[in-house]
Amino acid sequence: MGKIALVTGASRGIGYAIATKFAEMGYDLALNYRSNDSEANKVKETLEKLGVKVLLLKGDVRDKERVEAIIKETIDTFGTIDVLVNNAGITKDNLMMRMKDDEWDDVIDINLKGTFYFTKFASKVMMKKRTGKIINMVSVVGMTGNIGQVNYAASKAGVIGLTKASARELATRNICVNAVAPGFIETEMTDILNEDIKEAAKDRIPLGRFGRPDEVAEIVCFLGSDKANYITGQVIPVDGGMVI
Ligand code: NAP
Repeated sequence: MGKIALVTGASRGIGYAIATKFAEMGYDLALNYRSNDSEANKVKETLEKLGVKVLLLKGDVRDKERVEAIIKETIDTFGTIDVLVNNAGITKDNLMMRMKDDEWDDVIDINLKGTFYFTKFASKVMMKKRTGKIINMVSVVGMTGNIGQVNYAASKAGVIGLTKASARELATRNICVNAVAPGFIETEMTDILNEDIKEAAKDRIPLGRFGRPDEVAEIVCFLGSDKANYITGQVIPVDGGMVI
């Protein structure tokens, strides 16, 4: 098929599940991660067994020059980018009164500015060929807020705004931009929560359980496919009913 998907933060968790699903759909992959080389190499080895090409692109999404270089390396290797998934993200939770500047800056810079950089440079490529799909990973917290997460909620609400504005800007070039908003998903990000918080969270989920990364990947890969050619500017929750 020859389609190319670029996924940020793909060495584990939801990003890895998205990369796996795209590989199963026959997409070649450009996979970004920040630090864990051995984990990323394992991902490459595993996905190549599905018969697709995998290019690993180490780099911090906050680093503008590195992001530009990642887009160039992807084009030099594959010739194009059909789908960009801005998935890389972090939390640094603290009550607002105790939140330090670096906890605010790191979360805003990685989650929001990183998404801006990748969207800006990848959409340049997509605009030239007048087609493309961009999917941004947000969170229900960007819509509802959450105690201890003013930085994270602001970053994800910012990405929702970025999604809607860029969807309007890029629509004339046939580029669709959407966001997926998970609730609680079983990854390392939620593993660190203590059992009391996990149980309290489950009480707020009508379906009564955390979601799995593959359940998020399904909708992301649908939005990246030609089946979603008439959907843009939307935020799709995958949250077991948390924000009904
Ligand atoms: P995760 O398991 O912690 O994985 C995060 C991934 O992002 C890793 O591949 C990590 O790479 C990468 N990453 C982190 N900082 C980066 C940076 N500065 N530059 C490049 N890559 C970076 O997280 P997850 O739970 O899969 O979450 C994925 C996305 O879904 C995030 O945007 C998160 O906010 C969102 N989300 C998650 C949940 C949930 O319940 N898990 C809910 C709502 C939204 P390294 O391994 O190299 O550090």
